[in-house]
Amino acid sequence: MNLGYMRDIYEQLHKNPEVSLEEYWTANFIASELENLGFSVKTEIGGTGVVGIMEFAHPGKCLAFRADMDGLPVTEKTGVAFASKNPGVMHACGHDSHMAILLSVCAYAAQNKAELSGSLIAVFQPAEEIVVGAKAMLKQGVFEIKKPDYFLGIHNWPSIPAGTVGLESGPVTSYADGFKVTFMGQGGHGAFPHKVRDPIAMATLAVQNAYALTQRTDDNLNPRTLSFGMIHGGTSFNVIPETVEMEGTVRTVSEESQQGMIELLHKAFNSSAELYGGSYNLEYRKGVPAVVNDPLVVEKIIKLLQEETAHIHLITQGLVSLIGEDVGYFLQEVPGALLFIGSGQEGAINELHNPCFLVPEETLHTGYAVLTSILRRLTV
Ligand SMILES: [Zn+2]
Ligand SMILES: [Zn+2]
Repeated sequence: MNLGYMRDIYEQLHKNPEVSLEEYWTANFIASELENLGFSVKTEIGGTGVVGIMEFAHPGKCLAFRADMDGLPVTEKTGVAFASKNPGVMHACGHDSHMAILLSVCAYAAQNKAELSGSLIAVFQPAEEIVVGAKAMLKQGVFEIKKPDYFLGIHNWPSIPAGTVGLESGPVTSYADGFKVTFMGQGGHGAFPHKVRDPIAMATLAVQNAYALTQRTDDNLNPRTLSFGMIHGGTSFNVIPETVEMEGTVRTVSEESQQGMIELLHKAFNSSAELYGGSYNLEYRKGVPAVVNDPLVVEKIIKLLQEETAHIHLITQGLVSLIGEDVGYFLQEVPGALLFIGSGQEGAINELHNPCFLVPEETLHTGYAVLTSILRRLTV
């Protein structure tokens, strides 16, 4: 068993968090652990990414596991003995637990090399929080080193209790897009609204139109949402400005739904601008794709976990969340899934990115049990 090793790795990583694109200490630490375990190691893949590969004694499939490496610009307030040594940086999303689980699974793999089949690729991905790391690793040919047959990302998940695992077929996270809209009118004196074309009136109506249309065209089948996060315009209380700018985010779980929301925005903005005699310009920025779990892989894993780790409760529904996760880029290339490892605890802060958030010990144990089972069975 590698539980002591896992705890030690977890605490060391927790103490030494680094923000996205700066995971240098972390990358060195992981590379040297992997080398000690006998993995063939490649570093600097897509920035600070690290990949370890091990071939097993029996022929079989190649399985990749992904752990993300970055911490967040958050000042830790947990008060634990192994709290962050780096001021203003914290593993507040629990990526330290993902790396500790994966390294311990690598230790298990090394110890059981003679009995296992196929091969394991341990992918340590940088910059998940700013959703650029996966794309950078792919661009630098991570799958050219060796292409896996299955790809599994892991993330601790405080919405489900520690000691459980969540795995659902189909989309589990969203296409996370951004947009900027500019309303253009004609400015003038606040006392003479009849002489201007008021972009503030256009923008405020546009917010209402977009929200109302989203709600009234919802088929209840595909989760989606739209939020404005910024609105800028004007310089004085009695001057109607020439333009107003707004920015927001759109979250959907399919390309059709994404396209539908783009059309909806155009309708809402066009009608609002037209009513007040102005015009608009929409810049739509597509972000990360939704994480779509492959139904066949999910089915296989659920079956094997029911046999191997029957004591761990499996949650297979209601896991969809409209966050963005860049593991979706890997899953566009290789069938697989994002596996949620429960990290919720009664009486604790069950919120990722919170300065008091800590991954419970049980999550490490559950992750280890589940991943080693998958490694034993999925590659045969
Ligand atoms: Zn996060
Ligand atoms: Zn995270």
